[in-house]
Amino acid sequence: MKVALQNLTKVFPNRNKKIKKDVVAVNDFNFEIPDGKLIGLLGPSGCGKSTTLYMISGLEKPTRGKIFFGDDDVTELSPENRGVGMVFQNYALYPHLTVKQNILFPLQNLKGKDRLTKDEMLRRTVEAAKLVQLDELLDRKPSELSGGQQQRVAIARALVKMPRVLLLDEPLSNLDARLRLQTREEIRRIQRETGITTIFVTHDQEEAMSISDEIVVMKDGTVQQTGAPQAVYDSPVNLFVAKFLGTPPINVFDGKIEKGVLYIGTDAVFSIAHEDCEVTVGVRPEGFIPDGGSLSCLIESIEVMGRDISVVTKNPASHNPFVRSIIASDTSVPSSGHVGFSLKPYKVFVFRKDTEERIFAELMPLGK
Ligand code: ATP
Repeated sequence: MKVALQNLTKVFPNRNKKIKKDVVAVNDFNFEIPDGKLIGLLGPSGCGKSTTLYMISGLEKPTRGKIFFGDDDVTELSPENRGVGMVFQNYALYPHLTVKQNILFPLQNLKGKDRLTKDEMLRRTVEAAKLVQLDELLDRKPSELSGGQQQRVAIARALVKMPRVLLLDEPLSNLDARLRLQTREEIRRIQRETGITTIFVTHDQEEAMSISDEIVVMKDGTVQQTGAPQAVYDSPVNLFVAKFLGTPPINVFDGKIEKGVLYIGTDAVFSIAHEDCEVTVGVRPEGFIPDGGSLSCLIESIEVMGRDISVVTKNPASHNPFVRSIIASDTSVPSSGHVGFSLKPYKVFVFRKDTEERIFAELMPLGK
């Protein structure tokens, strides 16, 4: 089921009398989610992710804009009539019911033409439990399950109604690191197997990047960039997106363009065909080559991480106390003193200092 959001906007009245301005939680959101894809809605706390999800589910009414499921305009439909399955951060299972009864529960409430026979309800329940690999645990109570298993019950409960769209709001937040990893792979597998169009909300960029077909990066209620995770990582449109994606994070420096040369601090690093201006330069940690190049940094420490080494340095133009570079461990790096880096041009992004928008001019070796 294709989901289209058209000019979706949500304004909450501000209850604080001193601040008259309303809260624009979501601002003119336009996006089309292709049928059968998993979309990661990503952004810092308060950027409007949950509000967007609640509008898609019908729990929140948009102030403006429309929502389509396929060709159906569902903007005015109640949540029950939209055919959405929702999974929240807290699994919200009924503690006194078994796994089977928890999964079955939504089917017992179906009315009219949607009513199912007992056998059909049971068949669907077992099918959903199998999908999340809980069919062996149907008679357990939630308290007898691990956090990951409880979340899988919640997913089965959302799937059992065969929703047109599956909405997941930070479903992994309550799990420990290992379970998070396992459960996110489970979610990906279940989504692939069922082919249900799925929207997944998270503030964890790594999580979104690892399982989404496409990501939507939001800030202050506004969509910043959409695209395949790798494409967005490789070509961020502004400084916010560049900083939001990537671990370790991108290194950010003060710089300038002067007479066709890009400088980081006072070090000339590339030729660039662009008018003179103040810029902010982002360099991904994997973009540094310690070959005596023109970017001069002072070595602080070297951390060996097996396949790679992390060279931690200082540079006066850096926005952060340290510059973090990731380099193959068979590269020779001085253990102290200064190191000169060359930079891989496709790992360097230049942004206007005033607007923080990307300057898309090509970076060429100096002198060209
Ligand atoms: P988080 O990751 O912390 O859950 P989020 O990205 O999901 O954040 P939302 O919960 O969608 O963000 O909130 C977006 C903005 O709207 C925030 O500034 C929030 O304070 C505001 N907001 C959300 N719900 C309401 C409400 N019912 N009344 C007023 N303001 C609200």
